[in-house]
Amino acid sequence: MEKNEILEWLKSDDQENLEKLWRLADEVRRDNVGEEVHLRGLIEVSNFCARDCGYCGIRVGNQEVCRYRMTADEIMDSVQMSVNFGYGTVVLQAGEDYGITCEWLSDIITRIKLETNLAITLSLGERAEAELVAWRQAGADRYLLRFETSNRELYDRIHPPLPGRFSDRFQILRGLREIGYEVGSGIMVGIPGQSFDDLVNDILLFKEYDIDMIGIGPYIPHPGTPLGMSSEEHLCPSGEQVPGTELMTCKVVALTRILCPLINIPSTTALATINRVEGRVHGLSRGANIVMPNLTPKKYRELYEIYPAKASCDENADESNSRIKNSISAMGRVVGVGRGDSANKKTRAV
Ligand code: SAM
Repeated sequence: MEKNEILEWLKSDDQENLEKLWRLADEVRRDNVGEEVHLRGLIEVSNFCARDCGYCGIRVGNQEVCRYRMTADEIMDSVQMSVNFGYGTVVLQAGEDYGITCEWLSDIITRIKLETNLAITLSLGERAEAELVAWRQAGADRYLLRFETSNRELYDRIHPPLPGRFSDRFQILRGLREIGYEVGSGIMVGIPGQSFDDLVNDILLFKEYDIDMIGIGPYIPHPGTPLGMSSEEHLCPSGEQVPGTELMTCKVVALTRILCPLINIPSTTALATINRVEGRVHGLSRGANIVMPNLTPKKYRELYEIYPAKASCDENADESNSRIKNSISAMGRVVGVGRGDSANKKTRAV
């Protein structure tokens, strides 16, 4: 698909036309990754963060946040839930927390691999290459690091680097691939200052970088962040600003599926947050094939407030598990069995 065609889809408001896009994305999804929806148990292991990202509620500058870091035993309890629910993967996610040391996490990864058959995804920010290598050697399978936006000027505006460091997520993504991880990335849709041209470039980069998993979620303003407090002044000129709507997010999901048929695409929690009733199902019927039910202990869930009113904060793991599985069955889809590795990575390895 050419740049102009992607742009036309992103700007299209014609319902009938969009139905064609949803149908095509759903067909491509079915033909390439099948009817299975793989579930990944999400464990938000820490909300400490060294970074001050302009949009994120757990940024270091947000003094209102009560910080926590789960113990190894608490993490293992959540891992056990993942096994009990029949999920194939756990995702260990956190702020960029240097209190999570290389050795501590390596021990936990080793324990998970000894006690379960689960695949392990890490999502811990921009960690040092030596740590990424050590965690891979300990048994971690996948690493998720969104590049958020391909517009370098916008990226720099909302991601102040750590002192003496330069943040180049594309370089890290290339490194992750070389280390042998299945590589996940993604973007937020509707960041103040994100233009339609930026979004087209983001989608084309998913393909160019041959990424194995792409997470696409709407930007949701958080009042405790610079961007959330003053979105207006950062917006693109009229007509150029991408809206952070459910519709726009679904268009990006659908176009990404069509361009990258074999990858895994989650129907994100952020999408389920802006449309609590149908967001998750819309994502799944417009190209997505993954859901990440939250297994973080309830007492910590509401403290991992990257944006307000996050879906899943008001229910426990059992409730999320049943609700998500029921909605998958109601769509005529099936809950995936096994790890749900990316078909894209398998092709590359051959
Ligand atoms: N520290 C890790 C990192 O930076 O990749 C993982 C945690 S980070 C909180 C996970 C993701 O949350 C980010 O990649 C970002 O896209 C998303 N996020 C943070 N704030 C958000 C907001 N206000 N609206 C939507 N998504 C947000």
